[in-house]
Amino acid sequence: MTYATKLLSPSEEDIAAAAEMLKNGEVVGIPTETVYGLAANALNETAVAKIFAAKGRPADNPLIVHISRFEDIYNYAEYVPENAKLLAELFWPGPMTMILRKKECIPYITSGGLDTVGLRFPANITARRIIDKCGFPLAAPSANLSGSPSPTSAVHVMDDMQGRISAVVDGGSCEVGVESTVISVSDEGKVCLLRPGFITLEKLTEAVGEDNVTVAKGVTECVSDGERVLSPGMKYKHYSPKANVTVVKGDIDSFSDYIAAHGGDNCAAMVFDGDEDKCPCRCISYGSTGEQQAQRLFSLLRKADEKGIDQIYVRCPEQSGVGLAVYNRLLRAAGFEVISL
Ligand code: AMP
Ligand code: MG
Repeated sequence: MTYATKLLSPSEEDIAAAAEMLKNGEVVGIPTETVYGLAANALNETAVAKIFAAKGRPADNPLIVHISRFEDIYNYAEYVPENAKLLAELFWPGPMTMILRKKECIPYITSGGLDTVGLRFPANITARRIIDKCGFPLAAPSANLSGSPSPTSAVHVMDDMQGRISAVVDGGSCEVGVESTVISVSDEGKVCLLRPGFITLEKLTEAVGEDNVTVAKGVTECVSDGERVLSPGMKYKHYSPKANVTVVKGDIDSFSDYIAAHGGDNCAAMVFDGDEDKCPCRCISYGSTGEQQAQRLFSLLRKADEKGIDQIYVRCPEQSGVGLAVYNRLLRAAGFEVISL
């Protein structure tokens, strides 16, 4: 089916129109503080099926369920351990998703066949107004075609989704720029980091103690076919522009020498602030801090495609703080192609 995708504003009237579409089981692109989401009624199997169809998303990759009040956690999670309450108090509303045992009302299509549900209470006011107006939780994966870089503006959503969904609500560009931190919290309160994000490993550890936090293998390593992954989304090549991406570890001089020796006519380099004129090719800075890099990463990968670049060399970010999230996304964009100089 082809839709005449409407571009809506965050006005009262347009939010009511978006909520009406969602109540009718349609799919709407919505802004959040992380990236844009492709939203539908999380409790309605037919509506959720439309998200998978619009994205071309594998059926075993679960969707995050978005709520607009903390108390809703009790409507959708079977059990809420003390550590989950503590983390929610510290980091909700915000860019953190907690995976807990699900209640029956969450359909298996939403949970990707799992007995758990990923819950998030977003900080973005427009997202919360839309959820409130609907009166049901919204399943919302990132609003890109499966595999491509996540959208951080309404224009990006239109680029991928025009004709495939009913509308997009334009809430400006996303402040965080990478998807939420995903953690699982066991009944015993043990926390496992499945996808790093703006709520960092350091903050989680500080909150619940080092003994209660582990990091899933897929965060910084390639999980081989057939190996069990805790977060199905982390096994796919992901976040990739059309251009080939290579992550390069090393100082700016060896990075530059490497490009001089290997870079073709149509390559570009993504470097840190201040290093833009140090490479023998088209060079863009993606920032110096993890926060800046996260905010700019996906939009720069999309821009490289618009310019017809076919090879991007990226200077490897720090692997701590928000930098860990940037590193995690880059590894997947690069299909784990990392060169150490
Ligand atoms: P996206 O919606 O594109 O941000 O992707 C959601 C991420 O959360 C994917 O990596 C999923 O695999 C992960 N996720 C969501 N719900 C669950 C769950 N119940 N168990 C494990 N991972 C989950
Ligand atoms: Mg995604």
